[in-house]
Amino acid sequence: MTCHSATRYFATMTTLTLENLSKEYAPGVTAVTNLNLTVQDGELMALLGPSGCGKTTTLRMVAGLLPPTAGDVLFDGRSVLNVPPEKRGAVMVFQEHALFPFMSVGDNVAYGLKMRKLGREEIRQRVAEALTAVQLPNFQDRWPDQLSGGQRQRVALARALVVRPRLLLLDEPLSNLDRGLREELRQMVRQLQQDTGITTLFITHDQAEAVAVADRIGVMMDGRIRQIGRPRDFYEHPADAQVARFFGTDNFLPGVKQGQTVATPIGPVEIPATPLPDGPVLLTVRPEAIELGANGHNNFPAQVQSCTFRVPAQECQVNVNGVNLHLIPPPYTNLRADKEILIHLPRERICVLPPEEA
Ligand code: ADP
Ligand code: MG
Repeated sequence: MTCHSATRYFATMTTLTLENLSKEYAPGVTAVTNLNLTVQDGELMALLGPSGCGKTTTLRMVAGLLPPTAGDVLFDGRSVLNVPPEKRGAVMVFQEHALFPFMSVGDNVAYGLKMRKLGREEIRQRVAEALTAVQLPNFQDRWPDQLSGGQRQRVALARALVVRPRLLLLDEPLSNLDRGLREELRQMVRQLQQDTGITTLFITHDQAEAVAVADRIGVMMDGRIRQIGRPRDFYEHPADAQVARFFGTDNFLPGVKQGQTVATPIGPVEIPATPLPDGPVLLTVRPEAIELGANGHNNFPAQVQSCTFRVPAQECQVNVNGVNLHLIPPPYTNLRADKEILIHLPRERICVLPPEEA
């Protein structure tokens, strides 16, 4: 969109706050528990979690399509629980079936504007602007069944943006597309959101997608928010083992902490400062953080078990004193099975987590 329209969008910016939001579909069927979350004016927040964790339920409560069992939804500090969906100014884009098949692309995009009884010329102009913004200029007269999946989702985005909503709610809008297209469209979503400054809640189960598009991410599991932070925080400081696993770490070392040292099955490991008390802890280190060769502290002999090549680097399993660790060496390294190596676990790359409950 042009700078001109971006300034017009700005006037409608909205902070979204969820306070102790809960949903119980039936006695014992709890989908969302005590959820607290603030999406700031103009922010793109991703709500990330595995299938069934309560993401769509949360979004439907924000949109007003589902009443919460407890808690509150506030736009700019005001509860909207008594405001019907069409008056909230939030628009939703779904994974699929977003377009009316019996309407042209132009009429699909114009739909919300016609409902708002805007003049013909303004509608024509805004539809053209919205289609241009999603890089489908002059697609007004096409029909949904003449579009590819990616084009359909772009039209759905145009239809959502054209009404200049206070809040954009995206429920896995790219999940049905194949990988290359998904990556291309996530850039487009990011760009459109930055150009318009519309406060956005983007739901996804794909951590790479969340990291690529979001200012901040809320990770949700079993109906609860587990961690809120910037994309990097989840790599560098996951809150617990499940979150770390969700972000692709599979190296875990249980141990007993005493001061800055943890006794683990591979030997004593020096750790960075942590607020956790002495006693049982769980250490984790990302596969790409493990270095080859000795370097000061935390050096361990290891035997390479297996290596596969995944562009742009190898991925290896190594055995360290009977413990299997996953290692991604720097690109152009050539490790082979059975090779004896030394590995170094840099202290500052080790995350100290609470022990996992049995
Ligand atoms: P997600 O979008 O993260 O995949 P959902 O919010 O759709 O998760 O669902 C969360 C939980 O609530 C799931 O266990 C699901 O089976 C349950 N659920 C969703 N919708 C309903 C419903 N209408 N009635 C009863 N249970 C539901
Ligand atoms: Mg869902």
